[in-house]
Amino acid sequence: MTGQWSTEIVVLGGGLAGLRAASVAAEAGRRVVLIEKRDRLGGSAALSAGMFWTAPDLESYRARVPAGNVALGERVISDYDANLDAIRRSGVFVSDQSTDDVMGFGRGFTFDVKAYLGHLEERILKAGGEIRTGLRVRAIEPSATQRYRLVIESDEGEANLETNAIVFATGGFQGSPGARATWMPDVGEDILLRSNPGSTGDGLRLASELGAATAGDLGTFYGHLISHPVSGFTPDRFMLFSQYYSNHGILVAADGRRFADESRGDEMLNQDLAELDGMRAFLIFDHETRSTYGASEPFANFGRLDRFEFAVEHGARHAVADTLDALAVALGTLGVDEGQLRRTLAGDVGVSTLASRVSRSEPPTAAQLGLLRSGPFYALEVQPAVTFTLGGIAIDAATRVIAASGSPLDGVFAAGADIGGLSNYGYVGGLAPAHIAGSIAGVEAVASC
Ligand SMILES: Cc1cc2nc3c(=O)[nH]c(=O)nc-3n(C[C@H](O)[C@H](O)[C@H](O)COP(=O)(O)OP(=O)(O)OC[C@H]3O[C@@H](n4cnc5c(N)ncnc54)[C@H](O)[C@@H]3O)c2cc1C
Repeated sequence: MTGQWSTEIVVLGGGLAGLRAASVAAEAGRRVVLIEKRDRLGGSAALSAGMFWTAPDLESYRARVPAGNVALGERVISDYDANLDAIRRSGVFVSDQSTDDVMGFGRGFTFDVKAYLGHLEERILKAGGEIRTGLRVRAIEPSATQRYRLVIESDEGEANLETNAIVFATGGFQGSPGARATWMPDVGEDILLRSNPGSTGDGLRLASELGAATAGDLGTFYGHLISHPVSGFTPDRFMLFSQYYSNHGILVAADGRRFADESRGDEMLNQDLAELDGMRAFLIFDHETRSTYGASEPFANFGRLDRFEFAVEHGARHAVADTLDALAVALGTLGVDEGQLRRTLAGDVGVSTLASRVSRSEPPTAAQLGLLRSGPFYALEVQPAVTFTLGGIAIDAATRVIAASGSPLDGVFAAGADIGGLSNYGYVGGLAPAHIAGSIAGVEAVASC
């Protein structure tokens, strides 16, 4: 593809947010081009569990994300039912409301996300929209004929695409070690990627070049603890290695100390561990935890799996013992400070000396030790992983991208994991906010043309 080209609305990114925004805009009769830089659509959404989940009300949103964008949180909560209905109307499978408590709060329904992504693609094409894969947007410049000109590279050469509106939906910056080093310097650079590899911060970079402000704490991110070492960590197995149940045990660093209140949930512990030197800890839990939370189905239709057994079969360092005393000895041989570990298990909640940089977590509590009830006891080495970044492009509740001056940029919108500040260390979902913001961005982009 070379030469000049024009449209009314460009959507960058072919994951859930981008496909939804493009389908809404195309069905409103606008000329829409969706650009996906990889050779396939779907992004991380296509790898996901399909849990359409978020905070149930504003009070829980504020409690979980005290520094969050309240106007945006309110919009996500108020638009949730209409967006869930839109998915139901597509005819894809949607489960009953989940009773599993993987995230500790919120409301969610599992849907067949792959089928739904295919459904959105069909709708875009049926409405006359264009979908182009394998294209890279190098720059966005002001244009004399329309608002913006995208300079696009492909294997065939370079082209210019003129447009009046742009929706950024490139899925965050977790896929770029350089972007992570710049925007989340406290997180170890070797952190495992639990995401599609294409989300490398292009949306944030291009929007910043247009003058966009950032929002939220760029050092925060969503993900789950993964066993360590891990062999065969392929995208289809990301969820099998995820230790969702870590809030039912304690986490101990190599110095034998705990470093966070584990009861706050795996997605928070994952961020806390990423700030420790070396990014490794042992998750210690009892048999009841292993056989219930550690082996349950985290999402509808996911299937049961003994996560400890699966992790061990795939190379994880671990220990099993009938008593906590014997477990301390076994962990001592794996490099954990045995003396301190014994004191920790006996009720010393002194925070790990390694944790000096951890600024967001709550300190450990003695109550959590009560979850180590009776043997056998297990210890599984874990590492953090990044699924998507929570800080990003500043938007308002209408998904308009906000400049450093505080005013919206003309015709520029963002949705999905590119946006910052809806979740902020505390997490309120990926798919539901992506779909909801994508719906809004589609409508607003149409109105802006
Ligand atoms: C294993 C796993 C399980 C998950 N489970 C859940 C779950 O059950 N519930 C939940 O709420 N969330 C879940 N998530 C998170 C969820 O998938 C994301 O929050 C959601 O997909 C974000 O949507 P998005 O459209 O912003 O990004 P994505 O779906 O990741 O799509 C972004 C797309 O943009 C493309 N792109 C990047 N740069 C460019 C560019 N310059 N030009 C064009 N295209 C570009 C990428 O290649 C990608 O295809 C999970 C994620 C993973 C990986």
